[in-house]
Amino acid sequence: MTPTEYIWMNGKLVRWDDAKIHICSHVIHYGSSVFEGMRIYKTAKGSVAFRLRDHSERLLNSAKIYRMEIPYTADELDEAMLSTVGANGLEECYVRPVAYRGYGTLGVDPSNCPVDVAIATWPWGKYLGEDAMENGVSVCFSSWNRIAPNTMPAMAKAGANYMNSQLIKMEAISHGYAEGIALDVSGNVSEGSGENIFLVRKGVLITPTFAASILPGITRSSVIRLAEDMGIKVIEQNVPREALYLADEVFFTGSAAEITPISKIDNIVIGEGKAGPITKKLQAAFFNIVGGRTKDKYGWLTPVPEYKEVTV
Ligand code: PMP
Repeated sequence: MTPTEYIWMNGKLVRWDDAKIHICSHVIHYGSSVFEGMRIYKTAKGSVAFRLRDHSERLLNSAKIYRMEIPYTADELDEAMLSTVGANGLEECYVRPVAYRGYGTLGVDPSNCPVDVAIATWPWGKYLGEDAMENGVSVCFSSWNRIAPNTMPAMAKAGANYMNSQLIKMEAISHGYAEGIALDVSGNVSEGSGENIFLVRKGVLITPTFAASILPGITRSSVIRLAEDMGIKVIEQNVPREALYLADEVFFTGSAAEITPISKIDNIVIGEGKAGPITKKLQAAFFNIVGGRTKDKYGWLTPVPEYKEVTV
């Protein structure tokens, strides 16, 4: 990763190299964190955050599920994220707010540990490779299932969930694939290690429901909205594994992955084996909005204000 100058920690900007926590912080031992990942895009009129408030709200919701009281409002989190981007002078970047159980006691019960919040920002290119947007990525089904509903809440974007994601991702990479797709515990399609998944079959867009142990993706909801406005029928339903093999098009969505086509699954070629027509239409609509080339009629963009001064 490319370090930037400042990280926001509990209300203050600190130098990148000074953004440290104690080894006895609860989060280190038990994975007790919730976090977000959001992109800042450069437009002709300056930089913009994509769906800022939705990310702040999801962070607060993830914390609520874990009874974690974040000492900031959505307004304050929005402002902190934008000011960290501004302080680092970044035109395009990834924004990573994280709230975690800090240094206090080290029993499993986290209630005597403070809830600390930090925000890091850094430049991040295409998550699944530069040519993935056109040519797609080759992926596999994972031998690991997504977390079961009655074990850990998939709707929370919690650090600990990503132990499961890491197993999925490492297995895929070790077998030569760019990413893995996990099934839920019932055997239906869930999601990638860090992306939601869509398929297109005979012009209809289909994606797993929230009940398939997925994260309620912000890019997922954006794509559903864009598709509906294009007159494309969208169905949220259980998706059997083989429906992906037989699809005309399959793609991932995510703040990092954006809209990435899938060319092959388990070495079975999907459709034409590259971005299909509906994927391309959705990519164009998405990138035109975030790039400021078409009107932001959904109110998804927030300008990054000019940053004033840094006193560190
Ligand atoms: N599922 C998982 C497991 C993820 O980590 C992500 C990335 N945040 C997504 C789906 C996509 O969500 P979003 O579009 O909000 O980034």
